[in-house]
Amino acid sequence: MIDFRKIVRPHIWELKPYSSARDEYTGTHGIFLDANENPYSSVTGESFNRYPDPYQRSIKEMLATLKGVSPNQIFLGNGSDEAIDLLIRLCCEPHQDNILIMPPTYGMYAVSAEINCVKVKEVLLTPDFQLRVAEILQQVDAQTKIIFVCSPNNPTGNCFRQADILELLEHFHGLVVIDEAYIDFARIPSFITLLGKFPNLVVLQTFSKAWGMAGLRVGMAYASPTIIQLLNKIKPPYNIGEHTQQKIMEALNEVHRKDEMVAYILAERQRLSQELQKISTIEYVYPSDANFLLVRIKGGKKAYDYLISQLIIVRDRSKMALCQDCLRITVGTKSENEMLIEALKMYQPN
Ligand SMILES: *Cc1c(COP(=O)(O)O)cnc(C)c1O
Repeated sequence: MIDFRKIVRPHIWELKPYSSARDEYTGTHGIFLDANENPYSSVTGESFNRYPDPYQRSIKEMLATLKGVSPNQIFLGNGSDEAIDLLIRLCCEPHQDNILIMPPTYGMYAVSAEINCVKVKEVLLTPDFQLRVAEILQQVDAQTKIIFVCSPNNPTGNCFRQADILELLEHFHGLVVIDEAYIDFARIPSFITLLGKFPNLVVLQTFSKAWGMAGLRVGMAYASPTIIQLLNKIKPPYNIGEHTQQKIMEALNEVHRKDEMVAYILAERQRLSQELQKISTIEYVYPSDANFLLVRIKGGKKAYDYLISQLIIVRDRSKMALCQDCLRITVGTKSENEMLIEALKMYQPN
């Protein structure tokens, strides 16, 4: 059984959150003299003089319909990075509790933990980038509050076996956070459908990748209403600005545009992968369920430096565990990919 009182820091259960003007009066009509706002339009002539909805209710209603969840199962953050930080601060006592990650994986879990003086346990992936479930469950101790599962994983690009993740959900009694930043590019369905079954499940998604809105900074956490309420208690009151909320609602009215872009990127991913495999210095192109390819190339870092000299910037992942000589290459536009391929054909490691 999941006991949230064992997962969440005790003082946060007791915390009385900041009550904003928009918490105390939620009506939309009247003369608003309660929030010390400027009654006139902003100096640029746009009407951003009012504070935004602290709970982003309109967005959550649209997302709830799109994702088949209830609005009280949704949290919105300033990027998923804010959700990662808040989840750690919600559950982990500094200098006492720990989180568990499976390298090579996304760097923010460990960085957020370290900023908060929370220890990080690591269990390496297998050489084919899958989970070592038995070892993970063995490493977990009473102070382990969160396991971060990035699937599709960054930087390896693959999804983990669903049965392995289910085993973690069933046997670990802290939070299992599944980071699905790249789920729109994957062949497998989201874990969101299992929220009702696992109260300790948190699914992270983002507007930064498939939706093409990284500059706006909006990420989502889907979880049981208890966890969502606790996140709301500790978040900065107005963490998503009004302009951003408007743009996200516009995007949610154009889901088909996102789907079209995803289809195009998937076709390019396939083409790019095939072209890269023909290049002699490329030793392996890993299969991908994301919008990037992990590529093992002769010389590793040398290839990275060469590409930089050609003004093509990829991510050098060659220092990460299990990723020797590997570059992570984002799928670009057709012409960008073309230029990458032409440049790599001319690359000489010696
Ligand atoms: C890109 C990425 C994110 C997105 O972070 P945002 O803060 O929402 O931009 C989250 N997780 C992983 C694994 C990523 O690669």
